[in-house]
Amino acid sequence: MPETRPSFPRRAVITGGMPYGNKNLHFGHIGGVFVPADFFARFLRDRIGPENVLFVSGTDCYGSPIAEGFRKKVENEGYAGTIEDYVRVNHDAQKAALDAYGISLDLFAGSGLEPARDVHARLTDELIRRLHERGYLHRRTTRQFFDVEAGTFLNGRQVQGRCPVRGCKSEKAYADECDLGHQFDPEELIAPVSQLTGTTPELRPVDNWYFDLPAFREELERLMDEWDLDPQVRAVVTKTVRESLVDPVIYVQTKFREAYDAVADRLPGHVLTEAEKGQQSFSLTFSGWEARDEAREVLDAAGVRFRTGKCLLPLRITGNIEWGVPAPELEGSSGLTVWVWPESLWAPISFTQTALSLAPEGRYSSRDWHDWWCSEDARVYQFIGQDNIYFYCVAQPALWEALGWGLTQDVPVANYHILFMNKKASSSGKIVPPMAAELLDAYTPEQLRAHWLSLGLDQKAVSFNPKAFDTSVSHKDKKTGEDVLVRDDPRVVDPALKESAFLTNIFNRLARSCFYGAANVCDAHLPAAAPAADAVHAAREAVLAFERRAYEFDAHGALAVAEEFCRAANKRWDEASKAAKGDDAAYEQALADAFVALRATALLMHPAVPAGCEKICEHMGFSPELFFSWEHAFDGPAELAAALGETPESHAIVPLPPRYDFFEKHPSQVKGK
Ligand SMILES: [Zn+2]
Repeated sequence: MPETRPSFPRRAVITGGMPYGNKNLHFGHIGGVFVPADFFARFLRDRIGPENVLFVSGTDCYGSPIAEGFRKKVENEGYAGTIEDYVRVNHDAQKAALDAYGISLDLFAGSGLEPARDVHARLTDELIRRLHERGYLHRRTTRQFFDVEAGTFLNGRQVQGRCPVRGCKSEKAYADECDLGHQFDPEELIAPVSQLTGTTPELRPVDNWYFDLPAFREELERLMDEWDLDPQVRAVVTKTVRESLVDPVIYVQTKFREAYDAVADRLPGHVLTEAEKGQQSFSLTFSGWEARDEAREVLDAAGVRFRTGKCLLPLRITGNIEWGVPAPELEGSSGLTVWVWPESLWAPISFTQTALSLAPEGRYSSRDWHDWWCSEDARVYQFIGQDNIYFYCVAQPALWEALGWGLTQDVPVANYHILFMNKKASSSGKIVPPMAAELLDAYTPEQLRAHWLSLGLDQKAVSFNPKAFDTSVSHKDKKTGEDVLVRDDPRVVDPALKESAFLTNIFNRLARSCFYGAANVCDAHLPAAAPAADAVHAAREAVLAFERRAYEFDAHGALAVAEEFCRAANKRWDEASKAAKGDDAAYEQALADAFVALRATALLMHPAVPAGCEKICEHMGFSPELFFSWEHAFDGPAELAAALGETPESHAIVPLPPRYDFFEKHPSQVKGK
């Protein structure tokens, strides 16, 4: 049965979670987000044309993590630059790391750095005014932490405590969110401490603008129903979003039952659900967040301890941190800046506008950002970590609806975490993961790209265990009795090099066989023999299977298709070329079949290991525009030559030097060094 092929949009924007501007990138940023996004962006460029693909991201420049990082750098290291200098240096290091891994961003900008800064400030101003005009912004007075000793309001990471959300396992919580993305009010933060002075801050009233997120519950429920049916959206996304699409709940420990009973009739209308067997708390369900807030005050005053459940809450849009995008003056409220989270949601639109304005004429199929973000035949693919589902898949879709600009809803691609040595690594946690740039001291970028893409992060959290960085003990040396580390044990196979073995031993071998064979028997031209029907069919099947998996963001499945196909082709060549000894016609036939397989493998592996595949294309004597275009996906080398008006016998290939390697090893992996 022929499978129906997936359909692709006319234009596509690919974007990824933005790295904060207070540090360089660790391997998880690159391996978990940017390499999968790059694989898809490169695949789409081949599939729908490079003029129809925009891959944009940038440094998240503003907000308390950056202000805190800068403050500490000044305090601890005597840093003399401005905060913008500080962000610029980090941005440049991030950009260099992305470039080193071949991440093919059309633009890696910075929300607070030129050339995107002014574009982003303009869009932010326009967008907030629009939300206000449409009645979705409300001014609320809330209380914010104030450090009495320092005489200043505290934002985000300037306060640390423990997360109040029931069951949360985060290690760190800040003023109004924890590092797992839970949102709460500052009043709820457990054991707050000011990071400026180490004192306990007090709460003082402030006015801010809030987006009416709870008004969009029905729209979000509808969107989740759509996403349930969409093979491109993973089940974990809709499951996580639905956890917030519920009525507001308060959980009260059963030991406070009497205290609750005493004030129950003073609480707004609610439904009481008794503790289930084995549970320590009963729950109170309210019709809206306002009623729950009211109830919290009554319970607090009565000395009842409780925790609140997830639900849709008004999303704070503004704040008073100095290092932020200025918010427009609305109804006389001035001097506010935009909170970094909402602002980072629309930053990819700013980056799109910037990239389009900088591009030479003709580079893209349209210079109007609406054709990329607000069009029926365009799609935006958002590669994110699962920690950020609330922002990208709850807050963002609601904002997009509220704006009424016709913005299409993103396709969220939420990957699991990439672990380091079987532990969850974060740059602020106890296990310090290697920086992306450090890994290149021991591996080539293509080795790591192939390895990370094969981990299957769409299915589960997977550990990255590069032998060169494994300092655990392998065994004791028999002679000296000293510990031998895994890193130094020649008997241990490096798990990070599993995919490189395929590149070097199979793919590279097939390529060399083709080129050396053609040099020997075809006078360095393509074989004249027509490839066998079954060889052509196998290539076609592989291309179709790969396309389906790439469409579903299943990079490891897609690469497995390419690998299996290439292994079979290599085996076929081995057998056919041996059997053809002394028979030139049979040998040329085997070579023609091998060339078809090499061409298909190079097309399929291109998004994963672009440099090596482009070298194969070059040696086959084709331009990358022709060779990697999926308009020719089912064409073998002979058809590609025909597209140039050549016969196979007249199409010259580029001779290969002896022992040539399309996928070179890292110098540190070469024996004898
Ligand atoms: Zn939490």
